[in-house]
Amino acid sequence: MLSETTISNKQYYSTGSGINTQGFLKGIPSAVGIAIGKSFIIEPEPYISGNTFIEADKIQSEIERFAKALKHLNTEFDEVISHSKTLPQSAQTIIETYLYLINDEFINENIRERIKTGLDTESAVINEYDYQGSFLRNSKDDLLRERVNDLENVKRRFISTLRHENPEYHLASGKILVAQNISPTDLVKYKEVGVIGIITEMGGIASHVSILARSFEMPAIIGVKDATKVLTDGLDLIIDGFTGLIIYNPDNLLSRRYEQRISEIEEHKTILGKLVKVKTETSDKRRIHLLSNIDRLEDVKNALIAGAEGVGLVRTESLLSNSGKIPDEDSQYSWYNELAERMYPNIVTIRCFDIGSDKYSAGIPLVENNPSLGLRGVRFLLYSRDIFKSQIKAILRASVNKNVRIMIPMISDLSELLTSKSLIADCMLELDKSGIKYDSKIPVGIMIETPSAVLTSDILAVECDFFSIGTNDLTQYTLAADRTNDLVTDIYDSFHPSVLKMIKITIENATKAGIVVGICGELAGHSGATRLLMGLGITELSVPSSMLLELKNRILKINFEEAVQMTEKLLTLNSSHDILKILESESN
Ligand code: PEP
Ligand code: MG
Repeated sequence: MLSETTISNKQYYSTGSGINTQGFLKGIPSAVGIAIGKSFIIEPEPYISGNTFIEADKIQSEIERFAKALKHLNTEFDEVISHSKTLPQSAQTIIETYLYLINDEFINENIRERIKTGLDTESAVINEYDYQGSFLRNSKDDLLRERVNDLENVKRRFISTLRHENPEYHLASGKILVAQNISPTDLVKYKEVGVIGIITEMGGIASHVSILARSFEMPAIIGVKDATKVLTDGLDLIIDGFTGLIIYNPDNLLSRRYEQRISEIEEHKTILGKLVKVKTETSDKRRIHLLSNIDRLEDVKNALIAGAEGVGLVRTESLLSNSGKIPDEDSQYSWYNELAERMYPNIVTIRCFDIGSDKYSAGIPLVENNPSLGLRGVRFLLYSRDIFKSQIKAILRASVNKNVRIMIPMISDLSELLTSKSLIADCMLELDKSGIKYDSKIPVGIMIETPSAVLTSDILAVECDFFSIGTNDLTQYTLAADRTNDLVTDIYDSFHPSVLKMIKITIENATKAGIVVGICGELAGHSGATRLLMGLGITELSVPSSMLLELKNRILKINFEEAVQMTEKLLTLNSSHDILKILESESN
């Protein structure tokens, strides 16, 4: 369990009658901190019955909405096509089929006619596509029946385009979001307008949204059943991201107690601030390097303030827009270059796009039933080589000052690493031809986040310059438990003996090969794990800047030799329950 405290009984109760008196909800704490403010409910997307009618005077504006959505989808797919010259033929065919369907004038005219009968655009689109689908579904021709899926996918794209026209983010400023679920891109937007906390009905503690909330220091509670139904807009709320407790309509006593708690947290931060310039080493002088994880350029400032010795993970997929638009090489270059310059002379580890799964995949025209096991990370990059190459070139160009490392996500086979390296070599040749300078010795490393990568880490280590262990995915794939699913939060457990053994094997193989190995997953910053990770022999940890000083504070108090002995004992235990019991008793 990655959450610092776990509350299992997700119930709610009120001390009075109904929502007007003080009441409590419980969920899974996924980002620590306290927030006090008004609720802002994001209504769950309504089920569209296909029977929503509009007033006659709205018909023209609905027809215009349809035209706008059509244009938006065309631009989106055109952009994907312009990036996909090297996609396999099958993928190009899918995209072309979608484009063909979107622009089918017969279908579009029928949709406009349906709107003229008084249906809203969503209903008109659904009815028309379902109508077309019903013919194909009954066809005797296998190929035609398969087209039903295409129609279904295009219909869904239309609906999501229509639904996400203009979310009014600013209305949530200074408030606590209450949503069924939220996308990483939306969370970034809400952070920018000043949202102070989040409550979601769904989501796992290692989902990308939870990770973002932690790096934003935005208290978050997830897995709160029916939160959007129980709570109403504008309620006074206190959310306690340490315990998962939500209080609505708090009385004066509780409000004062939590205000006091906020002041204590601020005081503690001031004390930690004194550690910024202190060298990170254990009490017996083993040097540890602390780096920051970064999603946005703005995060560099916080990394420097917290005294990070570099950036251990840049999640570049955060550059993708809501529509899945990938910035071109020049825009990426300016972004990476600015990052490298601001951090200079410290190292910046730029991870190539880890597109897919729960991250920034909106707008990418891949429809997969099981995206976590699908075309994610390096698989997507090798599938879309022009996207990969333009990113590599942008990173190389930003490496002139020799403080950039390049990192490949989701490696599960040696061939993926070798092909990536040969593409990097091709990109270097192309830059040479154009007389563009770069670091020809740029370190190339990989994420170790699949069991396959761990078990072949001896082979992989020979072919790369560093490893970074991604414990978020390593836990997900080792235990076969979806990191975004609150129903398997208890199974998704980074302290499980299997995960610890995976980390141990990786460190041993990296050490044998003489390459650097770090951890950039959430386990690196978990308060219960620091002693254990020291004992396993890790010397580089990369965490969100918000966790860095707290982590340093713990390391300074740890004796390395004692940590090694304790870890040897832990690795003989059968369950994470027993492991955590010892870790807790040792830290008291
Ligand atoms: C990880 O998997 O641990 C990791 C750091 O990568 P991400 O969370 O971006 O998948
Ligand atoms: Mg990962």
